[in-house]
Amino acid sequence: MMRAVRLHSVGEPLSVDEVPPPPVGPGEVLVDIKASGVCHSDLNYRDGVGTVGHLPIILGHEIAGVVDQIGEGVEGFEVGDRVLVHYVLSCGGCRYCSLGKENLCERYAMIGKDVDGGFAEYIAVPARNLVKLPEGLPFEQGAILGCAVSTPLHALRRAQLKPGEVVVVYGVGGLGVHAVQLASRVYGAGLMVAVDVAEYKLELAKRLGADVVVNPLHEDPVERVREETDGRMADVVVELVGKRETIMKGIECVGRGGRMVLVGIGLEEITLSPYRTIIGKEMELIGVNDHLKSELYQLVDLIASGRLDLSASITHRLAPEEANRALEILEHKLGNPVRVVLVQ
Ligand SMILES: [Zn+2]
Ligand SMILES: [Zn+2]
Repeated sequence: MMRAVRLHSVGEPLSVDEVPPPPVGPGEVLVDIKASGVCHSDLNYRDGVGTVGHLPIILGHEIAGVVDQIGEGVEGFEVGDRVLVHYVLSCGGCRYCSLGKENLCERYAMIGKDVDGGFAEYIAVPARNLVKLPEGLPFEQGAILGCAVSTPLHALRRAQLKPGEVVVVYGVGGLGVHAVQLASRVYGAGLMVAVDVAEYKLELAKRLGADVVVNPLHEDPVERVREETDGRMADVVVELVGKRETIMKGIECVGRGGRMVLVGIGLEEITLSPYRTIIGKEMELIGVNDHLKSELYQLVDLIASGRLDLSASITHRLAPEEANRALEILEHKLGNPVRVVLVQ
């Protein structure tokens, strides 16, 4: 038997259960989980904002560990390999998989949402969902690559951010701090503006490459961006909050030919004037959903080369049995969390 933290019913705390370890099918690998990141999405699944595939379910979609068992027909992995798990389960054969967009797969499923995830001792996953971790990369950092770092990278790639461009990041939490760091240090943004209501997040954003930080409780971000750019406004705005108000403010920050990138999950409707908002300045409105496995390889290389530093990203480490406490820390921002990780 193994320990697993499961959601039994929506709106209820998770419970620590003893369950049989998952069987390892052909093409699959059993991973001995060493670190499992806790994401804001896990709160959404618990609260019913996002629906899960079945109940009870093991949540957790930021997973890193060690290969423990190899299924039939698996090549390229050995017992003992350090790995991180790409949470997108895709068919590999549909139109979108063929285009290299497995996040849009017609038979898409997500580990830790549609099927059992990483708040457990072991997980069985298709070998093609694994990315090897280099020796020096800690498991906890490998785990958060799987969502908190890769989704912002996907967002900046979707935005086709170019060196020297003005970037505004709305919401510098677990994902946003990585958007700031990637935009300023990897992509060479010209001016990097970070917006958040939490001062500690703005402090961190500054350390990770933000040139200007704005707290909308004290100052209008739109006016500040106007000032900083002599009225030209931003080339790229990345929105990670998902509220109507922040999306609308973000759109106001977009300049001519700019791109508005929506990452934050929100259900509120927004109303736009096609001419004034989109057509007149040729604004592009871009949605971002998950990320690609190829981006995980990019991130591993960026860390190995020292161009990306995640040492400030993980603020809380807890035992898997404390998953409810981890969710509480995220929900109520106890102890100024950036990323919370369950470690074995
Ligand atoms: Zn996530
Ligand atoms: Zn597919």
